[in-house]
Amino acid sequence: MVNDGRNIWDKCLQIIKTEINPQAYKTWFEPIEPVRFDKKILTIQVPNNFFYEWIEEHYVHLMKKALLEVIGNSAGLNYRILKTKQDDSNAVKIDKQQLDTEKTNIKNPFVFPGIKKLKIDPNLNAQYHFDNYVEGDCNRLARNAGMAISKKPGGTAFNPLVIYGDVGLGKTHLAHAIGNQALKENDQKQILYVSSEKFTNQIVHAIKNGEIDDLLNFYHQLDILIVDDIQFFANKTKTMDIFFHIFNQLHQDGKQLVLTSDRPPKDLEGMEERLISRFKWGLTADLQSPDYETRMAILDNKMLTEGLELPDNVLEFICYNVKNNIRELEGVLVSLIAQSSLNNREIDLEITKEVVQKFVEQVSKEITIQSIQELVASHFKIEADHLQSKSRKRNIVIARQLSMYFAKKHTNKSLKTIGDTFGGRDHSTVIYSCKTVKDLMDTDKIFKETVDDLEKKITMSLHSK
Ligand code: ADP
Ligand code: MG
Repeated sequence: MVNDGRNIWDKCLQIIKTEINPQAYKTWFEPIEPVRFDKKILTIQVPNNFFYEWIEEHYVHLMKKALLEVIGNSAGLNYRILKTKQDDSNAVKIDKQQLDTEKTNIKNPFVFPGIKKLKIDPNLNAQYHFDNYVEGDCNRLARNAGMAISKKPGGTAFNPLVIYGDVGLGKTHLAHAIGNQALKENDQKQILYVSSEKFTNQIVHAIKNGEIDDLLNFYHQLDILIVDDIQFFANKTKTMDIFFHIFNQLHQDGKQLVLTSDRPPKDLEGMEERLISRFKWGLTADLQSPDYETRMAILDNKMLTEGLELPDNVLEFICYNVKNNIRELEGVLVSLIAQSSLNNREIDLEITKEVVQKFVEQVSKEITIQSIQELVASHFKIEADHLQSKSRKRNIVIARQLSMYFAKKHTNKSLKTIGDTFGGRDHSTVIYSCKTVKDLMDTDKIFKETVDDLEKKITMSLHSK
């Protein structure tokens, strides 16, 4: 029987929904339309090629599972890729737009004087591009979406692209990278990067001088508008009004908008609801704190560009301890270079520890039983409290014995104190644990690797007080 498969797809969605987080569901599954169901094959329509590739790469197993469950064996899936209407309208509009800009003489703050054809200074920082924007789990979605729109501004489902994340995680870098890449693909594109502060100032200035129309005309010529840190628009009614206008016009014309914010749109207090709802039209992608490997890759990359070489233990130490913020990671590197050249000292672990201490808050050099417990517990993905419990679950027992072993080895606490800290156990239990760990290390290679790995983390990390 041929039908549009909506029933089938809805059932699949029920299954998919329980397996992934709501943001991913909203981003990748809500935009999909079922279009046909015939001979056990479901055809779904996706907005564009990038979308299709992303789903194939990340969710194909999940979809397979859902389809098998709903349709049964020999279920099949076909994709239909929607060619956006915007692609066509773009082609026509560009010509018209070029005519318009040649004729009009629009006053604006970004024009290079002396150049006949109106070419907007994109205000982009050439240092920030994709080649030096290291990819990791923390930024993959935002980076890929950014790459996709720079190749096809206005031609993907990601319009606007809203990138959000805490300070120092790479929003501004990515915003510039998108602009620079788009310019590389097509140097005729009219692109503008503007901070929300500058945008607000322009508006204040334009209002004062009766030049709002000029300002609007100027913004309407853009193919890509990138606004950084839109959270600063909050409570600025006039700015929001004018931005709303510009947003609508550009979006309607199939032009690309890229916005960054320090929090997700829904949490932007003092921002008008009509704006927030527009921010949700496209893709909202967040930047997370980078994991250890990504931090390493970022530092490697920086050293390469700076022509620097640092000992491995120095790099490891930095990456173990500077976790939340890429700007801090770079800050440590710069301070190290400065310290070592000012004091004419080699960059070694000692000087690195001094510098890192200044960047990382609330730390002591001392290894404590508590810090060991936290580290081991997190490795075994259990709560640190479990180490003090009576539980005999195998992974908890091992984590507990390991923690005792490290506590004995790396703190100067007595066996009694160590036993006390593990839920009032007695000193013979601590001795027994240490022996068990040593025996296991002698006989089990994989276990030994785990111990070595944990030990490195314990001795490398600065410890929370
Ligand atoms: P934000 O705008 O989110 O506060 P920035 O874009 O200013 O953060 O990034 C802070 C610093 O970290 C910049 O120097 C930037 O080049 C660097 N950085 C951020 N993310 C990456 C990354 N993925 N790869 C390399 N460098 C990065
Ligand atoms: Mg920034």
